[in-house]
Amino acid sequence: MPEYSETVQQKTDYDFIIAGAGCAGLSLLHSILQSPILNQKSILVLDKSFEKSNDRTWCFWETNSSAFESLVCKKWENISIHKKEFSTQLSTHPFEYKMIQGIDFYQHIMQFAKGFSNVHWKQATIDTIEVEAGIGLVQWEGGMAKSTAIFSSILPVDTLYAMSQSKISVPFLWQHFKGRLIEFNTPLLDASVARLMDFNVDQKLDTAFMYVLPLTDRQALVEYTLFSPKILNPLEYDKEIDSYLNTHFPYQQYQVLHEEIGAIPMTMQRFDQSKAPVYVIGTLGNAVKASTGYAFKFIQNQVAQIVTSLENGKTIQTEVHNTRHQFYDSVLLFILQHRLMEGSEIFKRIFEKNKAATIFKFLSNTSSIWEDIQIMRSLPTRIFLPAAIKVGLRRG
Ligand SMILES: Cc1cc2nc3c(=O)[nH]c(=O)nc-3n(C[C@H](O)[C@H](O)[C@H](O)COP(=O)(O)OP(=O)(O)OC[C@H]3O[C@@H](n4cnc5c(N)ncnc54)[C@H](O)[C@@H]3O)c2cc1C
Repeated sequence: MPEYSETVQQKTDYDFIIAGAGCAGLSLLHSILQSPILNQKSILVLDKSFEKSNDRTWCFWETNSSAFESLVCKKWENISIHKKEFSTQLSTHPFEYKMIQGIDFYQHIMQFAKGFSNVHWKQATIDTIEVEAGIGLVQWEGGMAKSTAIFSSILPVDTLYAMSQSKISVPFLWQHFKGRLIEFNTPLLDASVARLMDFNVDQKLDTAFMYVLPLTDRQALVEYTLFSPKILNPLEYDKEIDSYLNTHFPYQQYQVLHEEIGAIPMTMQRFDQSKAPVYVIGTLGNAVKASTGYAFKFIQNQVAQIVTSLENGKTIQTEVHNTRHQFYDSVLLFILQHRLMEGSEIFKRIFEKNKAATIFKFLSNTSSIWEDIQIMRSLPTRIFLPAAIKVGLRRG
């Protein structure tokens, strides 16, 4: 954990304030400090706690190495999808599916930033972020700081949960999961294949799958994951994981090394808007891909976009999803929310009829129209066309 700068108590004006030092805030800090044009600017980083733990693992796909390649703890070049008698293994080429441990990411960036005396740290729970005469003002108990560029990723979980339960016209699902990092006593696993979606689990009336990421021939992260309106009691995830492990690895002994639990909003609902001098990033800044819950790469794109604008003195844009792919996300969410087709069947058909690379491009918002058409041809027009028309009319 970085030591606090003594100047924090006296200094109140900063070039940049980063409110929230999670994935988005620390990614932005890292990117600013990599920029020779920006890395001497005064920066205040605020978070309610810098006592970081390994609270999440991030997986994402990419074709090249990027800024955090040294933190990647495992990569796969093959994925598999399973639903009843259907089982397929696909090469991800030219993509690799990669994993980073949260704690490695937090420590790496905080350690790197220690080398910059212009970066100030303050552990405090932010009460308000307001704008007065064009200047952004962040306030916490006993303190405040000002800047003309505040980047916030603080999103109150209770507000988010209340929003998901209110009668908004926009679909709102959760991608919620609990996972265990387990280690078997004997080598049982094929560590070269990531089991991306195994739908042979209790669907709980919505979409549910087991996500099995083997790190070695003994170790795997096994996560029961659902896309649904309501989060489960932790025991329900445990029950499903126990049953899955008993079915697939009967009588095999294993130890639980670590557990992970989380819920990611899947919605087109806007939580907040960027408006100078306060810019929203990360989940608050709608970086999460609504139809998948993946956010890590979109956060990296968002941060890169911001840093380029800061370097060039251009207007800062924080939107990372293009209109076309947002429309597809809305249609899929509409279908899932209204249970017009089983999610397991939708994903099965997509993976049955397309290359993993095409699907990854589609889910990264980088597919061409022709590739989009290929994906759409895997799905029943009688369900998707009326849904697309309804969603299109609503967006109007
Ligand atoms: C368990 C889990 C696993 C995930 N796995 C993946 C994955 O594999 N791939 C992927 O692409 N995405 C994944 N995601 C989704 C997404 O990448 C993460 O949620 C990501 O951490 C979002 O970044 P963020 O900066 O918006 O939020 P966070 O990382 O949650 O950071 C927000 C920060 O704000 C701070 N904060 C909040 N309120 C205040 C306040 N009032 N005052 C001061 N500080 C405050 C918090 O302490 C926190 O440090 C996962 C999410 C979870 C929860």
